[in-house]
Amino acid sequence: YINLAKFLLDSRKDGSEYDQSHVPVQQQYEAVGHAVRATYNYSAMADVAAETGDTDYQSAVMSLWSNMVNKKYYLTGGIGSGETSEGFGGNYSLRNNAYCESCSSAGLIFFQYKMNLAYHDAKYADLYEETMYNALLGSLSLDGKDFYYTNALSSAQPRYAWHVCPCCVGNIPRTLLMVPTWTYVRGDNGVYVNMFIGSNIRVDKVAGTSVEMIQKTDYPWSGDIELTVNPDQSKEFTVYVRVPDRKTSDLYTPLPAVKGIRSLSVNGKMIKADIRDGYAVIRRTWKKGDKVKVVLPMEIQKVTADERIEADRGRVALRYGPLIYNVEAADNANIDQPIGNAPLSLEWRKDLLGGVMTIKGKWADGSPLLAIPNYARLNRIPTTPYPQAAQQTQPTRANEPGQAVINRGPLSVIWMKGELMK
Ligand SMILES: [Zn+2]
Repeated sequence: YINLAKFLLDSRKDGSEYDQSHVPVQQQYEAVGHAVRATYNYSAMADVAAETGDTDYQSAVMSLWSNMVNKKYYLTGGIGSGETSEGFGGNYSLRNNAYCESCSSAGLIFFQYKMNLAYHDAKYADLYEETMYNALLGSLSLDGKDFYYTNALSSAQPRYAWHVCPCCVGNIPRTLLMVPTWTYVRGDNGVYVNMFIGSNIRVDKVAGTSVEMIQKTDYPWSGDIELTVNPDQSKEFTVYVRVPDRKTSDLYTPLPAVKGIRSLSVNGKMIKADIRDGYAVIRRTWKKGDKVKVVLPMEIQKVTADERIEADRGRVALRYGPLIYNVEAADNANIDQPIGNAPLSLEWRKDLLGGVMTIKGKWADGSPLLAIPNYARLNRIPTTPYPQAAQQTQPTRANEPGQAVINRGPLSVIWMKGELMK
């Protein structure tokens, strides 16, 4: 596989930026061209870099990753502004009428996962968790029947039942169905807990045994996680528990800073674990029924963007744990006004959108503000069978609003007007 991947990658030259064949891949440092093709290309590059140790591949893949995450990355974990054909724009050029194809979110998860496999640094899992909960899950309607091809951060566009270019319709479910793969990663001397999802997943070949990992949690609504480690045979190995850092990109600053662990215990005994590369390191002889309890800090955060992102200047977004929030016309009288300075609070609403943690506050005019998670956005407008004819032939314009939409303005936005109080 590696030989074939390297052969195909090394054949890429004398082509165009569109499919990342403009220069040899080892000389590529800026993420350009079609965003889905880019993430597939970079995923293979990460594999070659990790398996062969080729330093040219390693430095190129690190530069591409850093450029994408720190200069061309949306708050939702989406990529591809759509200023080039289904692809990236320039550095810091991140309009909110974004392209962010669902397939590019799937591809970005693959790439971040490969980087996590290669370097065992939790920051890559922080990033793919972000893309998973916001960009990818948000592409689907709550009933799972309709989907977005493009995922704008400011929109009035309904989801589709079908698209003439049916790439995303298969890519979204296959990526979501790979949750067991994204949840645990096996290392040389143990197992990495990358996602917090109520589940029962078997991880083979850990220190010569097979380990059943059971998680009980209602994350991301709360930060309480109970992990049962059930090795077939008692063995010494390390369980690495990801300690999320909500600041995932240089582009966005969520405040207050939320990272670290509130508490960590093994079989009821509090422990203070070393934190290494974003993981709490727990090494011991594990036996059936051993229980790890982790409490992660979960707080509302106000996010501001780098001044160089023109579209987000003078704007604020809301975050809770890995979730990015939207305000919608369905819940708010006027979403085109600044957010007020009233304190923000959480409210669990089991009656709303299948059960969501909402964020409540006040707008500048004193009216109540209600924010919902991005993945649940725009579920209260009628869906369409498929995009308009003009959009079908111009996929790069599939998320440009029609005239009716321009006249009424977006029905759902992430970036609200407002300055952050220092
Ligand atoms: Zn697609």
